[in-house]
Amino acid sequence: MNEDPVRTRSVESKSALSVRKSPLHGNGCFATVRFLKGYRIDEYAGERITRREAMQRMRGSQGKSISELNEDWYIDGSVDGNQTQYINHSCDPNADAFVIGGSLFIFALREIAPGEEITVDYLNSFEQDQSVCQCCTASCRQRIIRKAA
Ligand SMILES: [Zn+2]
Repeated sequence: MNEDPVRTRSVESKSALSVRKSPLHGNGCFATVRFLKGYRIDEYAGERITRREAMQRMRGSQGKSISELNEDWYIDGSVDGNQTQYINHSCDPNADAFVIGGSLFIFALREIAPGEEITVDYLNSFEQDQSVCQCCTASCRQRIIRKAA
């Protein structure tokens, strides 16, 4: 057997991620396998909704898992989503979201070890109790708000 163990392992399977209590906030999304830098972790799955619908859901108690796809469309990860909806914010994240072919994907910004929590810099948060950042990294901006435009 001379197969590359990294290439043969399916890092996109659901089992590559697990959801459990996070030291950052509520539940978090944790890697169960090693993701190398640049690896696609998973799709940020969910219901595709219009900006208008997204704004409406964000005003209510829903809308905790809504991510922007583009200026017209948003994805509500709480509807038909996967473990990625539990990804917490960090000001020094190990992952980021990119739009490819009309879908949102989470990619590793650096190598992520099994057991590590996956984090993304949200730029802003629509959830009241998440508006104060607890990531405790050296670059923490304290508040989850849009970076200076
Ligand atoms: Zn922070």
